[in-house]
Amino acid sequence: MTSTLPNDNIKNIDEKITNKLISEIIRDRIKRKGTRFSANDNIADFINPGELKVLEKEVASRIKDLLKSLVIDVDNDHNTQETAERVSKMYLNEVFKGRYHEQPKVTSFPNDKNLDEIYTVGPITVRSACSHHLVPILGECWIGIKPGSKVIGLSKFARVADWVFSRPHIQEEAVMILADEIEKLCEPKGLGIIVKAQHYCMKWRGVKEPNTSMINSVVRGDFRHDISLKQEFFELVRQQSSSNNY
Ligand SMILES: [Zn+2]
Repeated sequence: MTSTLPNDNIKNIDEKITNKLISEIIRDRIKRKGTRFSANDNIADFINPGELKVLEKEVASRIKDLLKSLVIDVDNDHNTQETAERVSKMYLNEVFKGRYHEQPKVTSFPNDKNLDEIYTVGPITVRSACSHHLVPILGECWIGIKPGSKVIGLSKFARVADWVFSRPHIQEEAVMILADEIEKLCEPKGLGIIVKAQHYCMKWRGVKEPNTSMINSVVRGDFRHDISLKQEFFELVRQQSSSNNY
């Protein structure tokens, strides 16, 4: 005899509910757990295998409605006939994949040699969209680490940054969320992150300033308390930004 324990698994709770949209089912699971589901939160834990495909169809039908409300002839305009499906896939699997997909696998290793010199990684390209207008934010990111008990491979910083930034964001929060994720992964003694990005809601619309960028940073641990370490971090990043090719 086999038995399941639906109460132990949030993903099984709604198995018998069939008259709801998949987005409602996922939202109900999240609410039952009391978890936040803002635009820049990851909700992959609440999506069962196969459900993303169903969500893709629901989002496509909503985007089709949006195009119709914009009085675009989606039935006869060959350019927009499959736009809804394309945009839906793009949101769920590309530009906002950091909401719907799990974090890329990152293996950490014990810091056996007790490395404690700081290093920086960058520039890492970051791509996001502003939560306010859903238009692109494109920029670069630098990460500085004073190693703690664990270390991770250099390329993993780029993978985690891509995952975190691939959500609708405001830049200030994106940097904090990335810092939280990196702290979880390698528990550094010191952490610094700088992001420099251009916001298309300023370039493409609104004030239409084509060259304005926003730079912000977060420093934690020893980078926050030790002024000379903080200066060393900013100096290393300055060198990385000025000499990318060698
Ligand atoms: Zn905006």
